[in-house]
Amino acid sequence: MTNIFGLTLAELQEVLAPLKVQKFRAKQIAEWLYQRGATDFSAMTNLSKALREQLAENFTIGRPKIKARLDSQDEKTTKFLLEFADGTAIETVLMRQPYGNSICVSTQAGCNMGCAFCASTLHGLARDLTCGEILAQAVTINDMLREESGSKVDTMVIMGSGEPLMNYDEVVKFLRLIHEPYTLGLGYRNITLSTSGIVPNMYKLAEEGMPISLSVSLHAPNQELRSEIMPINRKYPLKDVVAAAKNYADKTKRRVTYEYILIDQLNDGEQQAKELTALMHGQLASVNLIPINPVVERNLLRPSKARIDWFEGYLASHHVNVTVRREMGTDIQAACGQLRNKHLQD
Ligand code: SF4
Repeated sequence: MTNIFGLTLAELQEVLAPLKVQKFRAKQIAEWLYQRGATDFSAMTNLSKALREQLAENFTIGRPKIKARLDSQDEKTTKFLLEFADGTAIETVLMRQPYGNSICVSTQAGCNMGCAFCASTLHGLARDLTCGEILAQAVTINDMLREESGSKVDTMVIMGSGEPLMNYDEVVKFLRLIHEPYTLGLGYRNITLSTSGIVPNMYKLAEEGMPISLSVSLHAPNQELRSEIMPINRKYPLKDVVAAAKNYADKTKRRVTYEYILIDQLNDGEQQAKELTALMHGQLASVNLIPINPVVERNLLRPSKARIDWFEGYLASHHVNVTVRREMGTDIQAACGQLRNKHLQD
């Protein structure tokens, strides 16, 4: 049995060809899969009964089960633990923002990048997710929004567990697929991909002709400290990451965002503020400060509000475009990977 969830329209037409299914039927099936919430073929009521039976005999619709759902007290954030057929579980988050519904999807189950502040990497990498598994996260939430409130997914960040540029082909296929009018039709400008700095694939992404926003996890303004916080920095040094980000901004004309997790007494001092200011000089970029969500397994603490304000103020007064990330869902373990880790432990 072939799983058809995650196939493009052209791929669907190809796998359906031996069944002598007309091309327009493939489009109807795609709409049922990606827009109309069908989880089995019997729901596809504009197809003949005979065709529905034939499809059920030959294909499956690989949708994940919702293993857990956590809603924040303010009801703005919902976190899902989704489980695929092989038992692999991943996290997906919905954030009801003032500008629309935003989702955060995972691209790998676990991660082997080893960032010091991150819960997703504690158990290493289980496996890459397929294009269909990444799309299933978005479609699951889109179906839920449609049923609950007649709304939809408006924007997406690829910032869940995993390093998307280490799963490059599936992620790029997914980005093209979610943009298609027969899926969610999400505009590239409403999509942000976050990377820890996989330099060769940052250059590759700049050539894909998809003007998505790029967000680079910086977290330290010099080589030594960044290597301490992010081991991948030994392989792809800070200066090369910044050069690749500048190239991305030049090629796509999209402003790059540098994510900077503020960790008490580690990267939030005057020296780092000065170095970060120098690094940003002359770039089409902004800095997003993220006060750390303490991860109990690691001894990394959040700076005081006064220190956060000081750091932001320093950058702003030195003409760096800076924001502090608004916190959402800290009461439901918003730091990526924490829900999945609990599931693994249980
Ligand atoms: S922050 Fe991202 S790249 Fe780093 S370990 Fe966590 S999931 Fe992986």
